[in-house]
Amino acid sequence: MSTRAYDPERLDAMLTRLRLTAIRERLDSLLDEAARGELNLREALAYLCEAEIAHKDQRRIQMGLSIAKFPFVRTLEGFDSYAQPAVDPAQLRELATGRWIANGDAVLLLGPPGVGKTHLAVALGREAIVRGYSVLFTTATALMTALSQAHARGRLDERLSHYAKPKLLIIDELGYLPLQPQAAHLFFQLVSRRYERGSLLVTSNRSVGEWGEVFGDPVVATAILDRLLHHSHVITIRGESYRLREKRRAGLLGARADGAERARGAGGGEPARSPYGLPPGLAPAGAQD
Ligand code: ADP
Ligand code: MG
Repeated sequence: MSTRAYDPERLDAMLTRLRLTAIRERLDSLLDEAARGELNLREALAYLCEAEIAHKDQRRIQMGLSIAKFPFVRTLEGFDSYAQPAVDPAQLRELATGRWIANGDAVLLLGPPGVGKTHLAVALGREAIVRGYSVLFTTATALMTALSQAHARGRLDERLSHYAKPKLLIIDELGYLPLQPQAAHLFFQLVSRRYERGSLLVTSNRSVGEWGEVFGDPVVATAILDRLLHHSHVITIRGESYRLREKRRAGLLGARADGAERARGAGGGEPARSPYGLPPGLAPAGAQD
């Protein structure tokens, strides 16, 4: 045991050097709490470590969230499953564990506007960060623009690496805006580069059967889907826009023209055709639909 007298400045410097920021900043109150709880030395040390780890986790999550560039803050807890019977809460809980990312699986969230696709994409991205995965969020339009520009400047490889790096890449709103002819090939290169190395989460208002049209090239679209659907979880969300529903509830809008409130659990209200059906031969294992 060192016989040197206790020097608060020296302790402070050591905690700084060891990067034990939380312990350094809250030392007095943490030690007070330990004393109040009559902790022995070992217990007190564990208590200090817990505080430091909680602080570091918090910082890591904050950093991950800012790197991910989510358009808004959304959580799984904030997702009202009751309002959205087409989404299975058990499946959401399973996806929240991040196992699909560990396996390099893809998630496709399909459905009309306003049903919560971006909400779920952001919420699942957040869960992934909490579990230690790196995440990047982008829209299909921003992604395609970036890839096309990089391609024109002869820097495609660099850009592809940028989008291939995060463990989870979220591509929102595929199919909302028409894509340039070369976009299909660029997208295919990205999907190939990430294939079995990282996960993709794609949201789209178009059924995968319509992706040939979205990409303007059915052959490349099939090649893209072949990779995406190989290990995938497809969640098809049906029904009315959540926002419109809330407005209708608040009496701001009239009743639905057909006069029918959606039948819960029946995916009711949706036309009889299956707008999000998969093309033959591409039905993924374990898909919901
Ligand atoms: P989409 O991406 O499918 O067009 P969004 O995810 O942007 O729809 O949802 C529109 C708005 O409604 C968002 O503010 C979202 O948080 C909210 N929202 C949609 N569905 C739900 C739900 N089931 N529970 C809670 N909020 C929802
Ligand atoms: Mg959206």
